[in-house]
Amino acid sequence: MEIIRTISWMKQISREARAKNRVIGLVPTMGALHPGHFSLIRAAQTDCSPVVVSIFVNPKQFGPSEDFQKYPRSFEADRGALENLGVDYLFAPTPEEMYPPDFRTVVAVSGLSDKLEGRSRPGHFHGVTTVVLKLLEIVQPGFAYFGRKDAQQARIIRQMSLDLNLDAQIVVRPILRESDGLALSSRNVYLQGDDRRAATALHRSLEAVRQEIAAAQRDVLRLLAVLRRVLDAEPAIALDYAEIVDAETLEPVLNLRGSCLILLAAKLGKTRLIDNALVEQEGDTFRVTI
Ligand code: AMP
Repeated sequence: MEIIRTISWMKQISREARAKNRVIGLVPTMGALHPGHFSLIRAAQTDCSPVVVSIFVNPKQFGPSEDFQKYPRSFEADRGALENLGVDYLFAPTPEEMYPPDFRTVVAVSGLSDKLEGRSRPGHFHGVTTVVLKLLEIVQPGFAYFGRKDAQQARIIRQMSLDLNLDAQIVVRPILRESDGLALSSRNVYLQGDDRRAATALHRSLEAVRQEIAAAQRDVLRLLAVLRRVLDAEPAIALDYAEIVDAETLEPVLNLRGSCLILLAAKLGKTRLIDNALVEQEGDTFRVTI
């Protein structure tokens, strides 16, 4: 595996691969890699060659009071894991390489970026879309892989790709979870003892909603009440938001219909966690994917 630090070299590698009609797969990450990332990489490896994994802790997507400095970084372990997986290129630019001092552009997907996560984390998605567009331009992949763990992010990136006629196909993959249901996340290393146990309430609350939907409940307020009951039973959890929204518009719905997302965010101490479930209508029934 070759480690690439500069944009010019990454572009050169990409140009050469595309000249040979090879289809590049890109998996953008912030490092501190876990099996959720590995599942994206494996999907990329089945569709594409070469596969580029980027590791870049993007300062522009962290708010001033967020954990940019403390965000878990484990470059050597990540490098070893990527070698073992047979990844072709690791693109790991410095912040200065990505954002020279005179950098001025902000990529913003309006409407979708200021609600839910965007309301709690102002500017977050502008940072995300700015860096993802840069990565897509630098690497020029045929396919780029994202996790439904960050469902709003995936929706926003798909919209950006449509609006800007980007060539890369945006692929969104399922959420990988621990055996007790906690969605894998680089930030899970912050969770200790009781907080780690309490964190499973996010997943349990989604499972409780799944059961209600299976019992033919379609009323969103009632579904959210079931979800809150599970979360309220864990005093360590401070719920930020829990909403059921249309999967396309991300606008709240009153009754389940079409494709919806159940999105939630909560804090355990200083650790912010998000989770979600996808609800898809199939005739008179709804399939819930957690
Ligand atoms: P991150 O390094 O947290 O920015 O995540 C990089 C990519 O991995 C994003 O597209 C995430 O949605 C995805 N990802 C993170 N956690 C998971 C997970 N548990 N399952 C699947 N994909 C994930």
